[in-house]
Amino acid sequence: ANLYGIREWGADYFDVAPNGDVTVRPIKNKRNINVSIPEIIEGMRERGLGMPVLLRIENILDSQISRLHEAFAKAIKTLGYRGSYRGVFPIKVNQQQQVVEKIAQYGARYHHGLEVGSKAELLAAISQLRDLEACLVCNGYKDEEFIDLGLHARRMGFKCFFVVEMPRELSLILERAKALGVKPLIGVRAKLASKAGGHWTESGGERSTFGLTAAQIIDVVDELRRHDMLDCFQLLHYHLGSQLSNIREIRAAALEASRVYAGLVQEGVTMGYLDLGGGLAVDYDGSRTNFLSSRNYSIDEYCMDVLEAVMSILDETNVPHPNIITESGRATVAYYSLLIFNILDVSRIEYGDEHDIYLDKEALSQEYEIIRNLYEVLTNITIRNLQECYNDAIYYRDEMRQHFLHGKVTLRQRTKAERLFWVIIKRIATERNKMPNPHKNLAEIDNALADIYYGNFSVFQSLPDSWAINQLFPIMPLHRLNEVPTRQAIISDITCDSDGRIDRFIAPHGMKNTLDLHDLKEGEEYYLGVFLVGAYQETLGDLHNLLGDTNVVSVRVDEDGGFEFVREIHGDSVSDILSYVEYDPRRIMEDLRALAEESVRAGRITPSDRYNILQAFEAGIRGYTYFER
Ligand code: PLP
Repeated sequence: ANLYGIREWGADYFDVAPNGDVTVRPIKNKRNINVSIPEIIEGMRERGLGMPVLLRIENILDSQISRLHEAFAKAIKTLGYRGSYRGVFPIKVNQQQQVVEKIAQYGARYHHGLEVGSKAELLAAISQLRDLEACLVCNGYKDEEFIDLGLHARRMGFKCFFVVEMPRELSLILERAKALGVKPLIGVRAKLASKAGGHWTESGGERSTFGLTAAQIIDVVDELRRHDMLDCFQLLHYHLGSQLSNIREIRAAALEASRVYAGLVQEGVTMGYLDLGGGLAVDYDGSRTNFLSSRNYSIDEYCMDVLEAVMSILDETNVPHPNIITESGRATVAYYSLLIFNILDVSRIEYGDEHDIYLDKEALSQEYEIIRNLYEVLTNITIRNLQECYNDAIYYRDEMRQHFLHGKVTLRQRTKAERLFWVIIKRIATERNKMPNPHKNLAEIDNALADIYYGNFSVFQSLPDSWAINQLFPIMPLHRLNEVPTRQAIISDITCDSDGRIDRFIAPHGMKNTLDLHDLKEGEEYYLGVFLVGAYQETLGDLHNLLGDTNVVSVRVDEDGGFEFVREIHGDSVSDILSYVEYDPRRIMEDLRALAEESVRAGRITPSDRYNILQAFEAGIRGYTYFER
């Protein structure tokens, strides 16, 4: 059952039941409450919700918010830290209304707030946040309208901070605050020298695009003092980047920022809040290392380390401990959603049997030269020359293709060479697997020999980071896990784009180029799940091939182990998608009606054919953009 590493990356939320179903255990401290995901899928089917579906388990969001706050509470207590913790959720990580609403709801007991980076996000946040104790942090470029919106929010009682990202923003904030008669809460984003490694870490370091240098921060102090508004300056913010895998980098940045914070207090600024930004990583591969797809610390260690770092500097300089804000997005929402899709088809390489292609000396001498060469490669394979044989096989296969293009060989001869090629590859793979550490050698062979399982989804729409930056997400079958999977596969989506595939997978103790899957059974769906997709994937997705938003289902698990469908959102219809790219679906139908009428006039179809055809077009335009059974 742990073939897919579920026990490592599942964070205790996901496991496999003895009947082979993947289960979710979403309620904190209630290990006995397990819900079968295939049962949830059955419920979706009964409700007519087609695949693919994004499944949200609401309790997980609830649990993650609690985990974060409880970890900080524990660290605060253990260390005797004298500030409090205030988390904010950065809306950009998942802006869906339902998600933000739930974060505001589940976060209320901890005064969990929101972070925004644009006017649209600010309006969305104000509409969802009910708790005036919670922080509302405004990052990003701010024009006059953005500032006015924030000032109105402040007047209504929101704890709305403007984080100055660019030097010239301050004068605009001061001007608008005066004009509207509102006292703003002001913070600055510091450009730290600390920098982290990884995909998403361009936000850190002295060359980062955002933030103020030490000299610019001092200018802010002087400017506010000139306006007699130094008491408005209460927050210092930095953001090192997302998915910070290495705790040492997190600690180094917290130390540096604490120095800046202490320096500001020594300048006579009251301060009060230190906002460490996002970056709390998700252990996507379960390795607990500083790999990009993992993290070498737990949430508890994160909290202890940052608080310890802050305390060590502030105690040394006799500065009161600030309230700590973090803007954890990924860690808050990643676990909460999983993408479920069905497999539509499988394609396999048809390599023949070695016996079928056996040629005796006489027959061999009659063959085309490249076929003879390939045959020689096959007969020479030993465990010591696998790489060489592999290179030769590829060389001759490509050469044969060239000869075919130039008309030197027949289609049948080319086919013979291709079959021989696959027999060679298969034999190399068999020999390689006898080696003590086969995965490091000729790893691409796994991919070349793998079956292709065609999944009913779009990588570009639902897993954009898998395509754009090769991010790894855990993928596995959601049922039949009491049967041994006998196939090695890669996954292709239905976009007919060669980038629409997944060919790197998480396995216990490392990565694999193929995924262990089961043979399809006649008349039975085979479902795969892509886990931990709640962060960033939904809003980055694009409309490649005009495949739109998937259906979304939210489930809440009860204390008695039952579950209810609390929300279902139908994905984009073909009509929705066409409107996004500026077609008018009504106009399309009118054009189709006229076209069909012309066909009737020309005698190509009868009026009743026209009726049936138009019915089909109308149903198509109303339908789901994915493959429907
Ligand atoms: N805060 C800011 C300013 C960000 O730019 C981001 C995203 O990179 C975040 C918070 C969220 O980071 P994460 O999802 O890693 O917690």
